[in-house]
Amino acid sequence: MRIRGIGVSPGRAAGPVRQMGEPVPAPSDDALPEGADSAAEAERIPAAAREVAAELRRSAGRAAGEGAEILAATAQMAEDPALLQAAQELVRTRRTPAPRALWAAAEQIAGSLEALGGPFAERAADVRDVRDRLLAALRGDRPPGIPTAAEPFVLIAQDLAPADTAGLDPAQVLALVTVVGGPQSHTAILARRLGLPAIVGAAGAREIPDGTAVLVDADEGWVSDESTAQPRALRTSAPPYSGGGAVLADGTRVPLLANVGSVQDAEAAAAAHADGIGLLRTEFLFQDRTREPSIPEQVRAYREIFAQFPDRPVVVRTLDAGADKPLPFLPVPAEPNPDLGMRGYRMAQLHPGVLDRQLAAIARAAQGAAAQVQVIAPMITTLAETEEFVARSRAVGIERVGIMIETPAAALTSAQLLAACDVASIGTNDLTQYTMAADRRISGLAELGSVAQPAVLALIAAACEGAAVAGTPIGVCGEAAADPELAGLLVGLGATSLSMTPRAIPAVAAALAGQTRQQARDRVHSDL
Ligand code: PEP
Ligand code: MG
Repeated sequence: MRIRGIGVSPGRAAGPVRQMGEPVPAPSDDALPEGADSAAEAERIPAAAREVAAELRRSAGRAAGEGAEILAATAQMAEDPALLQAAQELVRTRRTPAPRALWAAAEQIAGSLEALGGPFAERAADVRDVRDRLLAALRGDRPPGIPTAAEPFVLIAQDLAPADTAGLDPAQVLALVTVVGGPQSHTAILARRLGLPAIVGAAGAREIPDGTAVLVDADEGWVSDESTAQPRALRTSAPPYSGGGAVLADGTRVPLLANVGSVQDAEAAAAAHADGIGLLRTEFLFQDRTREPSIPEQVRAYREIFAQFPDRPVVVRTLDAGADKPLPFLPVPAEPNPDLGMRGYRMAQLHPGVLDRQLAAIARAAQGAAAQVQVIAPMITTLAETEEFVARSRAVGIERVGIMIETPAAALTSAQLLAACDVASIGTNDLTQYTMAADRRISGLAELGSVAQPAVLALIAAACEGAAVAGTPIGVCGEAAADPELAGLLVGLGATSLSMTPRAIPAVAAALAGQTRQQARDRVHSDL
């Protein structure tokens, strides 16, 4: 059987399927039915714990190094007497069903850890992870989240949230296949960042049983269970790039910068000879935190990243939280339409101190760093927001300040907005979804959600023209910049630099080398 989807990160891979476990919903708080045996119900709890711990220990036995240690430690937590006894007590004394009792007992432990703060608070997430594994075992479901198999596998999921993928080990995962998600979704971004072949929109892929040997061809966009290949990555290699910008056929140089979300990404970017960092997604540094990271902690993280790029630009984007990238420490009231609600820079209205502390941390980390540190704000729509962000950044001593252009409003008024700041970066992922009114996570809207749509190209052109009027450099850091086909178009439209996952840099450099800026411009006119 061959299931078709949309290839969003190139390459091929063969291996056994591991289906991602669904998140576990909170159990209902009904009491045990009349006549039900509470002693027998209480006994289900240690039985589930034994089952979960045994499975984790089996995986630990097959894994190596740190992975094995984490699995063994999780197995131990699953049998923690404090958790199990508290839950059993609730079943016996209050006739609470086992799932609800485990939920309540785990919440109490997690809450006390959070109240202690510091490294204890971080352990609350581990307690909730174990709780969810125990609840899944009580229900007879597969454990939630990324599977813990010891051998490399093809991961199939309904969808992947940024937080799900935080613990994804690229050495374990051969390829990603999801049922939902579009080419600009965070699943696609993550896959390209890790160099994993990936397909989104693969309806029916959740029916493939665990363990089935499959072949994933992300170049053509399909996954097939008619595979006899040995588990392996069949990735394609790219031509080398040695830095200094892509040199167009007319000699123009276009800096090729990197999109990064971690210290490891920054190291990979430096190794790929990126000409700097064009987008540091700071929300990815702290996405698993339930508490705001302290200023010293932020300073340490930023400094490690800045150190990778002495004398090079490093563009730090302030936290872009909300909508598809929720951050637990920046809560938003329930909204009917989160993509049009409190997200990106707007979050500063709800949590102004968080932005100011982040800017202070960036400024402190930049002191004494050799990198040319700049800041940009996400999801800017008005001149007032731009001026406010510039003022806040300058107040802590950051000199080069700019904005993301990722809404039609910002693209259309870029001349005014960019006259008020020093640098701009076009986020084509969001600019496309807001221009075409097509959610970037929905694979069925992939055609509408394409940067090559004339309306999107017209807005990119407008943004670049406004930047030229204002005399402000304007890069592109959306996924379009990583596409060798589109990169030329973006340069033709007036982009002065491109920022992408480091793995895409060599192919983009090679594609740009074949054309002059004039040829790129001519192509744009035929596309518009
Ligand atoms: C974009 O929207 O193009 C962008 C780069 O930001 P993100 O993908 O993080 O929303
Ligand atoms: Mg964006």
